[in-house]
Amino acid sequence: MKAWKYPLSDIDLGKEEELEVLKVLRSRWLSTGPVTERFEKAFSERLGGGYGVGVSSGTAALHLALASLGLKNGDEVILPSLTFVATANAVLYVGARPVFADIVSLEDLNISPLEIERKVTKRTKAIVVMHYGGYPCDMGSVMEIARSRGLSVVEDAAHAPGAEYEGRRCGTIGDVGCFSFFSNKNLVTGEGGMVVTRSKVLADRIRRMRSHGMVALSWDKFRGHLSSYDIETLGYNYRITEIQSVLGLVQLRKLDRNNRKRKRLVEIYRRELQEVEEISVPFSKFKGIPSYHLFPVLLGASINRNLVMERLKKFGIQTSVHYPPVHLFSLYRKHFGYRRGMLPKTEEVSRRELTLPLHPRMDEKDMRWIVKKVRIVIREP
Ligand SMILES: *Cc1c(COP(=O)(O)O)cnc(C)c1O
Repeated sequence: MKAWKYPLSDIDLGKEEELEVLKVLRSRWLSTGPVTERFEKAFSERLGGGYGVGVSSGTAALHLALASLGLKNGDEVILPSLTFVATANAVLYVGARPVFADIVSLEDLNISPLEIERKVTKRTKAIVVMHYGGYPCDMGSVMEIARSRGLSVVEDAAHAPGAEYEGRRCGTIGDVGCFSFFSNKNLVTGEGGMVVTRSKVLADRIRRMRSHGMVALSWDKFRGHLSSYDIETLGYNYRITEIQSVLGLVQLRKLDRNNRKRKRLVEIYRRELQEVEEISVPFSKFKGIPSYHLFPVLLGASINRNLVMERLKKFGIQTSVHYPPVHLFSLYRKHFGYRRGMLPKTEEVSRRELTLPLHPRMDEKDMRWIVKKVRIVIREP
């Protein structure tokens, strides 16, 4: 692995995580167990209530969320294309058809409620939103559309732990919320995820599907001895381990502090970038409290992004693109007939977007240094 001077993201891990992991190892119970239960409880309480089910990844969370809603072959799910491919792959896992909706604008990179409305058909069963970069979607409008048509709403809140929309936590506004604790997210367990819901029925279903669909008839809990069980519905093995869960518990305690740190860093980025006219910064206006997961900027249409990325790399600055549009991946084109031009705003953002480093281990000096280099690089012929 190349060591970047400025990696895109970094983890705030310390002594506390080391000590807690050691305790779990010494307990000799490593799979899902009492620590996971504590993590689920603490996480859902942080979100203001409901049920949490710890799972092996954010992708597993999305799969279980959609499966728990009873989606099946022939159903349609409306979702953004400007997202990580896992959001859409989960729709394919349950055999449903992904129907991509464009984003609001080059300022608001979230799914557009107007676009959602336009894409609803008789076969639509659910809407999946993704809070891009930790900036909350317009959930008021999304929920109104969903309620008036009887559609379910899943929130891909992988970017948004701690983010709020009108006083409610992202992930708790729709029917089911999905979080990822992958190594580059705001709360890190290496791999891992959480499904949250206020519905006990859905929570029970999701919990069952997490572990093979087993319904325990007699269970020596946490010792793995299911002496008698039945399988009523298809399940998977999407369990999270105690090691991941204990990391999650420690990381959860740091979440607010680290999100506040991200906010301060973003403010510096925004201020410093104001004078760079070749660059615009999305989400200057938004509703709610973001979690500042990513710092996306849009380069002027005539700037060669690859060249900019190459040159920044020479300064040790890692950048990325969030995201190549899902509807233009070969798999999605081939199976669903998606073509270039179908989602013009999404495609334009995909061409012009550049994500700059952002993580809680950076400081004000770092932001200034990076912006200085960005300014030099985009003005080089
Ligand atoms: C990270 C991410 C996922 C997938 O999470 P994993 O834990 O890596 O499976 C899904 N959706 C979005 C938007 C993500 O950023």
